[in-house]
Order: sequence, then structure tokens, then C-alpha cells
Amino acid sequence: MKPRVYIETFGCQMNVADTERAATGLRSSGYDLCDSVDEADVVLLNTCSVREKAERKVYTRIGEVRAARPNKQDVLVGLMGCVAQLEGASIFNNAPAVDLVIGTRATDRISSLIERAQNGERRVLDLDERGETDVWDVSPAQRHSPHVAFIPIIEGCNKFCSFCIVPYSRGRERSRPANLILDEIRNLQQFGYKEVHLIGQNVNSYRPRVESGLEGFTGATPFSRLLRAVAATGMPRIKFTTSFPRDFHPDIISAIEANENLCNWIHLPVQSGSDRILKRMRRGHNRGDYLDRIARIKSSTRRLSLTTDVIVGFPGETDDDFRQTLSLIEDCSYDALYIFKYSRRRGTPAADFEDTVSESEKTARFLELENVHRRCQQKVYSSYVGQTISVLAERQSSRSESDLTGHSTCHKVVNFKGDESLEGEIVDVLITKQK
Ligand code: SAM
Repeated sequence: MKPRVYIETFGCQMNVADTERAATGLRSSGYDLCDSVDEADVVLLNTCSVREKAERKVYTRIGEVRAARPNKQDVLVGLMGCVAQLEGASIFNNAPAVDLVIGTRATDRISSLIERAQNGERRVLDLDERGETDVWDVSPAQRHSPHVAFIPIIEGCNKFCSFCIVPYSRGRERSRPANLILDEIRNLQQFGYKEVHLIGQNVNSYRPRVESGLEGFTGATPFSRLLRAVAATGMPRIKFTTSFPRDFHPDIISAIEANENLCNWIHLPVQSGSDRILKRMRRGHNRGDYLDRIARIKSSTRRLSLTTDVIVGFPGETDDDFRQTLSLIEDCSYDALYIFKYSRRRGTPAADFEDTVSESEKTARFLELENVHRRCQQKVYSSYVGQTISVLAERQSSRSESDLTGHSTCHKVVNFKGDESLEGEIVDVLITKQK
């Protein structure tokens, strides 16, 4: 019988995409994938280190896995992803239950690493760079959905925001050649996929080394040219995330306006409404720059939904700074807001700043911001009631057997009456109430 591997994924869409890619490689090297720790010969935890809480969760999970499978001979345990890349060999000392540490660029070498561990090598470690010939192919069987696919277009980050660990865990920006992205999308169309998400830490910083695939597509930046090229494949729905404010060129909106299949959703993380804090965060944008970009989005001929991320309690954030964030959130009136309490990440510049905001103050700011946002969000949501919007029917709703659930082109979850014959179809749904 083939050895069975179970992969559990924490964190962002990039990790989901890495898991899909790792699973594809493992299958082609003769492994089977399974759905639980109990059935597995190898357990891999694909980890996230963006905040301390996420990192702690991984160590708790290693303990649970070993408790479920106490005999070291029965199962190998490996850590993949950002915690693996950052902590490296020290993981073997902190968590002796771990047999393999697989860095963020070693996704294509997992099967040979497992073999080394199976052959008796202890503490197998790979923190090396990607190989030049690494493949990005993901088999449809390993995708997280039969209708929606994540397509990495850029890896890593060059921005070095003072709070963020990503440049250290994922290395420098590396863009995939456009022709490979387009081939992957055409292939997905043949399998009936209806929606792709172009993903990366900063998709709009896309800058491939080669022109291949972009010839004939004009635009002010390589990313807006890529959007036009992807739209021309005819894939019914195209979304992209995350956009970095400083690199957000208005031509992205022009590309959306000219192509119906580029969806009505922009995620543009602001992090703070205070110029003083934005400077300490080293974001490379100020409140005014950011609001100029929002003005262009809001004046679009298409109704674009807008979402953002905010960090509360960044070192040195005063009550006045926080009030400026509150007012920006009211002014922008987002469709969704992801709020994070600042989490100190060792090795980042902000880790050396004095953490002046207490945990209870961070919680108070979190709740106040959430309240202000909810009020604005209710207004945004109520404006959709009575409108018909296009929704991809993704699966049966967990709430009721006679309901389906899916995302709208503006990336909202919509539940509606329908049977399984509609799954995978794009349907028009009349919005009758908001949550
Ligand atoms: N690359 C994107 C950008 O910079 O706009 C965001 C990527 S990050 C993985 C997702 C979100 O996590 C960030 O937008 C930020 O709000 C949050 N985040 C990152 N580092 C954090 C930290 N040290 N503490 C709290 N939240 C953090």
C-alpha cells in the first residue's frame, strides 16, 4: 500500500495554494493523500506565523497529533510553511515530536525529504531556495474547490513593513511568467472552473522577468496588463488579492471597467488612518494617498466592493491616532474589515519599538472599531437589498438542505434556495435580506 500523507493547513490563501501544490507533487511521486491524522503515515502541518497566536496554535497542534499517534515508528510529523522557514532547526529542540522541517520554498522537494526520514535520517531540514525548474502545476483533484481555484502569481514580499514577518518567512518577490499563469487558467476552464483568484502577498507588485504571455496587452503596469490578458482567456470570474496601496495604479480600475469578467471587489489593506503610525509602520503610503485611491475606486462606472485590514494597538498608537483610524473607516465605508491586534514578531523592526498599548486597550480599540465598521457595513449591505446580483453556486448551505451558498462577484456570501443541479453555475439572485 502507498504511504499516506495528511496535510493540515493554517493561515492565508498562499498556504492553501502551497498545500495544493505539495499534494499534487506527493501524488505524482506515489503517495496517497488522506483526510485524518489517524489514517496517516506522515502528518504535515502547513503553518502560519503572521501573528503570535497562529504560531502558538501550531505547537498545540503538534502535541495533539503526537498524543493521537504516540508511537514515533508509526507516523512521521513534519512542519511546512512560515513557522518552519523562520524557526528552522530550533523546532527540533522546541518540539522533539517533529521529524521534518520543510521551508516555504521546498514544496517541490517534500517527497524526497520524506524518503530521507523514512530511511532513518533524523531531523530532516530544508530551508533552501526554490529550484529553477520547480513546477507550479496543481491537479484539479487537489484543489480546495471544484469551482474556484487559487493561482499564485507572485511570491514573497519586498516591502518590509515594520510589523510584518512575511519578507523573512517568504523571501523576496518573485513573479511567475504570465504565459504559465494563462496556461493554468485555460487548463482550469477545460475542467469547468468558473472562478480564479490571482493571489500573492502583493499582487499588484507583479513584475515578471519575461514578457511572455503579456505581448499584445497594454496597460500602465505589468499587473494591469496581466489582468487584461487573464480577462481575455474568457474565464467567467476573476478576482485578485491582496493589493498593496502604494502600488495600486488607477489603471487597475480601468482594466476592470473594460472587462466584465474582472470581478467587483478590491481588497486594499490600510492598516491605520494616522499618518504618524503609517510612517512608523513603513507602509509607503499616507492617509491622503490612500484616500485618493479609494476615490478612484468609488467613482468607478462599476459598483466595486471594498475591503481592508487594520492593525490596532501598534507600538506608539495614541488615542488620537486611533480616532483617525475610526474616522477613515467611517469615510471609506467598507464592505468588510479585518481587524488585528498588533502582535510583536521577533526579527521585525517594530519588535524593537516600545509596546505602549496594553492588551486591554487593544481589545477596547478592537471592539470600538468593530462597532463603527458594523454600522457602516449595515448601510452598505442594505443597499444591496432589492438588487439582483450574480452568484457562483459553490455548495449546499450548512444551514439548510434546500439552500445553496456561494460568493457574489462583489465577494459576499449569499445563501439562496436551489438544488444541487445548480452547483458550479453562475446564477442571478435577488437579494431579499441582509445578515
Ligand atoms: N501584504 C499585505 C499588505 O501588506 O497589505 C497583507 C498580508 S498579511 C499576511 C495580512 C494582514 O495581517 C495584514 O494586512 C495585517 O493587517 C495583518 N498583520 C500582519 N502582521 C501583523 C502583526 N505583526 N500584528 C498584527 N497583524 C498583522
